[in-house]
Amino acid sequence: MATDVMCYERMHLNLKRLGLAEIDARIDSSVQEAASQDLSLVEFVDRLLEAEVCARQGRAAETRISLARFPARKSIDSFDFAFQPSVDRRQIKDLLTLRFLAEGQNVVLLGPPGVGKTHLAIALGLAACQADHAVYFTTAHDLVQMLMTSSAIGRFNRKMKFLLHPSLLIIDEVGYLPLDREASNLLFQLISQRYEQAASVILTSNRSYGEWGSMFADTVIASAVLDRLLHRSVTITIRGESYRLKDRRRAGLLTTASRTAPAPDQIKG
Ligand code: ADP
Ligand code: MG
Repeated sequence: MATDVMCYERMHLNLKRLGLAEIDARIDSSVQEAASQDLSLVEFVDRLLEAEVCARQGRAAETRISLARFPARKSIDSFDFAFQPSVDRRQIKDLLTLRFLAEGQNVVLLGPPGVGKTHLAIALGLAACQADHAVYFTTAHDLVQMLMTSSAIGRFNRKMKFLLHPSLLIIDEVGYLPLDREASNLLFQLISQRYEQAASVILTSNRSYGEWGSMFADTVIASAVLDRLLHRSVTITIRGESYRLKDRRRAGLLTTASRTAPAPDQIKG
């Protein structure tokens, strides 16, 4: 018959063998807690299993987040809605339920530099990662470079597969640089194929839809892209001041005149 010591050692060994690392780490203190809190055996087992599942979900979310390649971590909790009244808090809360992903809707965030487009796009992307969705974040510039390079070396289909795989693709800063014909065509193919799959895209741009014609090689491609993008979509237009300039303005470092002229950090979104 196994002694108590043998049982104890075998228990930890088996937890390790089964890969139940969280339970393995907690079980000794949990046994004492269970006794002092007068927990039933079912409560005791439930708490341990819950801790294991939470730890696994946390690790899975971290993996998703690192694969998403966000440029920074921006959560909705750090978004100051009072500073940006043109952003409807309820609409953002609704997007955070991720219903838009289930319905294959796109989210387009429009507005001048510094108003929080990228912040909100990342916050939605993080929420998707936490719900175990695959997400990929890129800028329009990097995306076009990626597509052009893969096309030049005969790996376009493979790259397309990579970009079609995530449940959510975030394309930041569309419109900062004009796109030539090849770039426009490649971007159109990507948007069109994601549309066919009902796979969501979040896109941010400093250009209003009316200006998209001049951003693409011609208005035909621009309207073909918009047609697919906007068929199932939510547009959030943010009007207001750059958050980046808020503190400087408060400190009196900016004059009224500098509100109209782009500041150095307004050149990029
Ligand atoms: P955009 O993409 O519209 O140019 P960003 O999302 O990059 O703007 O915002 C610029 C900086 O200001 C980021 O550091 C962002 O976290 C911050 N920011 C913007 N708007 C807000 C806000 N309403 N509350 C808190 N931080 C904000
Ligand atoms: Mg931005």
